Amino acid sequence: IGKAGQKRISDTTVSIVGCGALGSNSAEIMARAGVKKIILIDGDKVEESNLQRQAMYTKKDVGSYKVEALKEHILSVRDDIEVEIHKEFLAENNVDLIKSDMILDGLDNLKTRFMINEFAKKKNIPYVFGATIKSEGMVYSVLPKRPCFECVFKNSKDFESCESQGILASAAKTVASIQCVEAIKIIMGEKFRPNLIKFNLWDNNFLSLKTKFNSNCSICNKKETKLPSFEIKECETKAMYRVKLKERKHLDMSKLQDFEVVMDGGMIVIVSIDGHEVIVHDYGELIFKELKDTEKIREVSQTIYGKIIP
Ligand SMILES: [Zn+2]
Repeated sequence: IGKAGQKRISDTTVSIVGCGALGSNSAEIMARAGVKKIILIDGDKVEESNLQRQAMYTKKDVGSYKVEALKEHILSVRDDIEVEIHKEFLAENNVDLIKSDMILDGLDNLKTRFMINEFAKKKNIPYVFGATIKSEGMVYSVLPKRPCFECVFKNSKDFESCESQGILASAAKTVASIQCVEAIKIIMGEKFRPNLIKFNLWDNNFLSLKTKFNSNCSICNKKETKLPSFEIKECETKAMYRVKLKERKHLDMSKLQDFEVVMDGGMIVIVSIDGHEVIVHDYGELIFKELKDTEKIREVSQTIYGKIIP
């Protein structure tokens, strides 16, 4: 790996969504590889029935949140690593939690993976997907300029929930190893062929498949919507920031319902985005009362205008 490679790894924050058999193994491997920080996201608690395949957990962890038990385990391996935990499941309203340098998933459902895929593509964060079902495993790296998870798996019959199928502990360990090697190669900027890796331990089958863009993919074919220009001004009393559109636009205020609405007065709606309240006027003006960071104001304004300008 070399010194430069190790330096890159030690500057990296990895988020791991889902801390079952796969996610917990990957978390340990990435911790041992030397990353700076790990973000763990999972709302589940350790159950007695998890112990046979989720090797990171032991009897004393039963009843605790997986993220708590896993954090303790990671810190027992390395105490100079930062571990941030979230005892919740990833959803639309908290997807920002995975803002990091690298996203790994150890999930058992497709819906959340499609959501991670969209977020990762939008933010240009590499996302290494992993899955285990019975004795089978899959790994695929979603990179900014490569076919995305939706391109490859939109109509795939590859998934049956592991809830009903059960998984082999060794398959989870194998997927975790491949997933982490792919992640480390990406972090180090190594050249590699980002194929879909598929294997079946029981049949000794190992495939590396080429992928291609799907012309129906809603993520890769999303047209770059041109955002209107706007200006941010601090008002004279310095009590708030006003954001004004340079040109008047027709706005669809009903789209604000996709955010957390604090107050809906029809022509004036107050929404909360990333914990910041914004007053939205139907003629396009935004008012920020407590937020003073203009970079963040710009980001939130883009999010709002992107939503309400058809
Ligand atoms: Zn795509």
